Amino acid sequence: MSISPLMPVYPRCGVRPVKGEHCHLIDEDGTRYLDFASGIAVNLLGHSHSGLIGAIQRQAETLMHVSNLYGSPQGEELAQMLVDKTFADTVFFTNSGAEAVEAAIKTARAYHQHEDGDAQRTELITFTNAFHGRTMATISASNQEKMHKGFMPLLPGFQYAEFDNLDHAKSLMSDKTAGFLVEPIQGEGGIRPGSDEFIHGLRKLADDNDLMLVFDEVQCGVARTGKLYAYEHYGIEPDIMATAKGIGGGFPLGACLATEKAARGMGFGTHGSTYGGNPLAMAAGKAVMEAVANDTFLNEVAGKGERLRSRLEQFIGNYPEMFELVRGKGLMLGLKMKVESRPFFVHLRDNHQLLTVAAGDNTLRILPPLVAGDAEFDEFFDKLSAGAASYDAAG
Ligand SMILES: *Cc1c(COP(=O)(O)O)cnc(C)c1O
Repeated sequence: MSISPLMPVYPRCGVRPVKGEHCHLIDEDGTRYLDFASGIAVNLLGHSHSGLIGAIQRQAETLMHVSNLYGSPQGEELAQMLVDKTFADTVFFTNSGAEAVEAAIKTARAYHQHEDGDAQRTELITFTNAFHGRTMATISASNQEKMHKGFMPLLPGFQYAEFDNLDHAKSLMSDKTAGFLVEPIQGEGGIRPGSDEFIHGLRKLADDNDLMLVFDEVQCGVARTGKLYAYEHYGIEPDIMATAKGIGGGFPLGACLATEKAARGMGFGTHGSTYGGNPLAMAAGKAVMEAVANDTFLNEVAGKGERLRSRLEQFIGNYPEMFELVRGKGLMLGLKMKVESRPFFVHLRDNHQLLTVAAGDNTLRILPPLVAGDAEFDEFFDKLSAGAASYDAAG
């Protein structure tokens, strides 16, 4: 047999972490890496946060899992925290981002298939280079062919408009349109924030036509950008939102948030999940929310984001032939490169023990744990400078 026991869907690299310490990962052979990938925007409290560990330990000893057939004091508590801190009135818990987006898609469709709705409105307008996950519905929601190949047929009900192009989205609207599904800041697509005009325009189109504005904040949410959720930067609110990644700080957890109006189709028996919202996940989510959902922490992230960004802007001035620009918000930053970004990302990882994430549009994603500080930023620039200097000389 030549297939590996782990189904070979990931081209895994040679880094094999076995331990995490704050902002570092330690490999099987003892090599230490500076982790500015954070499990792709997941480990926002770093790798050995005593509060998160303690919360999970205590809950594991008390009660790990019960069915959603029973009442959930743990779920009510975390849902209430999210309701208090966001636009939402109600929350459905999931175990991943794709499931949170699935729940969001179902909520948007069910809004129109409710008795007060217009049942022919079944289509969501989504955007080019989006990433919404790897289930059939979420790959169907993205125009990226590399995710479709081999998995036909796609699910119907998605129209692709160009990201950040309001006129294009408007031109695809019809009496079948149910709403818009968009990452306000594209992650995988290359850390591309939607413009104010684009996001405000979608909100207005949704308001004027009784459509659902659905945000996928799986990557940009949970304090990553210096606000609890990225929609706050735009001064508008979505009707439905998917969140995951950072919300469990490394424990698998996601959620679909909605207003009361948007959730009108999600009554008894319409949706479910065996694990979703189990007490262990709720304990992790609560520990994360307690750490990040306050002005002190959020302002710190915003301040660190400013410092990291201005240092990056200064730095790229030294290598005008390699780097084009810095974009993003808070500690969700992208370095758009003029030369191919993927080999440089590999070079930083393998030769300088610096972990970042490659992304679309020739961009290097820089996603430090939100608890990283100036010491980690200094180490980051030491590694990045050494990496750029050796790469430049070799290239
Ligand atoms: C990662 C991601 C997802 C999918 O999350 P999973 O937990 O991998 O299912 C969905 N949307 C966005 C924007 C993401 O970055």
